[in-house]
Order: sequence, then C-alpha cells, then structure tokens
Amino acid sequence: MPLEACEQRLPRACRYRLVIFDWDGTLMDSAARIVACMEAAASELGWAAPTPAAIRDIIGLGLPEAMEALYPGIGALERDTLQAAFSRQFRLADQVPSPFFPGVLEGVARLREAPECRLAVATGKSRRGLDRVFDHHGCGEWFVASRTADQTRSKPHPQMLEELLAACGLPPEAAVMVGDTEYDLEMAGRWAWTAWR
Ligand SMILES: [Mg+2]
Repeated sequence: MPLEACEQRLPRACRYRLVIFDWDGTLMDSAARIVACMEAAASELGWAAPTPAAIRDIIGLGLPEAMEALYPGIGALERDTLQAAFSRQFRLADQVPSPFFPGVLEGVARLREAPECRLAVATGKSRRGLDRVFDHHGCGEWFVASRTADQTRSKPHPQMLEELLAACGLPPEAAVMVGDTEYDLEMAGRWAWTAWR
C-alpha cells in the first residue's frame, strides 16, 4: 500500500490528552442566532437593542455577566427579566438546531480516532442549552466531560478548566483549550498561571 494511503488510514496522533472546546463560535456557527435573539429579547421588553457588534462581544460569557456587560448598571431584577426573555427567544429559535462550522465533523472524528486523546467542552452556554444541542445533533458522546457557566463560573474565571482536568485526572500540561474569543484565551491563561505556580 502506498505510504500516503497508509497515513490516511491511520489516526493522527494528538500531542494533548484532552482537547477542550468552546462551543458557540468555535464548533457551532451560532453567533447570528445569538445576536437575533438578544435583539428580540430587548424589543420584547421595549428596551433599545445593543448593536450587533456589542452582542457579538459578549458571546462566551455566562448569561448574567453578558446582560450586565450589555447594559452597564442594570439592576438584578431587570437583568433576570432580560435573561429570561433571551432564553425564551433562544429556546424558540433552537427548535431548528444551529449548524456546525464546515470541517468540524471531520476534525472531531479525526481527534476521536487519535490514540489517548479525549474531548471536552467549556462553554458560556447554560447546562440546559448545551444538553439541548447535544440531543439535537446526537453529539454528546463525542465528549468525556463538559462544563457550563451556570454550573461553575463564567469565563474568564478558570473554574471550568480546573473541574474538567480534575474530572479527567489529568495535569494542566496534558490539555489544550480551543476557543474563538478573548474570554477563552484569558481563561486558559489564568488557569495555566495558577496551575503552574
Ligand atoms: Mg465562543
């Protein structure tokens, strides 16, 4: 068999034993939906909607933190009302699942074949939201563990990463965080800094 064909059949090795993915904007092409649902939630309450750019900037944060970033000085009651409106809009929109980015299915399949490499998720989504998308796509089994902002703490706090590593019994140097925003980078940076002190 030609060498090239052999290489295609063999799973590529992965230098990390745990690859931790962010969800929205990294695996799933969901930013436009998040923007539309935030605009709809603001409109439902009769509030001025933030700009699409401002909404895109908060993707990755936990919901309470995202609402506070969009409406600085917002009270707890208003924040919770807005969060509930956004969640309602998102649940409705999510009846039709958002798509994965092109190449994600193939890339994940290759990583899953790599010896001793496992996958996990660290996301600002709620547990309910992540479980819903796992159900829609039947992809929950890709991941050995997952953590959401409402289970732990919002990015950039590194608690999600600490918990995922502890759940997998791995040291920090065995894992890599894959994300698309500054919150992912900052979370990974803070976590590495504390882990190696
Ligand atoms: Mg993201």
